[in-house]
Amino acid sequence: MGKSISCKDAGKTCGWSATAGTEDELLKITLEHVKEHHTELTINSELSKTIKTLMKDT
Ligand SMILES: [Zn+2]
Repeated sequence: MGKSISCKDAGKTCGWSATAGTEDELLKITLEHVKEHHTELTINSELSKTIKTLMKDT
């Protein structure tokens, strides 16, 4: 069982989604995506928390 996330669930008009084995791994992947494609977002602990709430079990 792993974790998945998609930008659509965050209300973004972005078709990106990802899955990973662990929450930490998925968070890392997601932050890489945010850095490149959602430059309006500030990467901080608050954002990390939000990302984790958007994760779903696969
Ligand atoms: Zn995105």
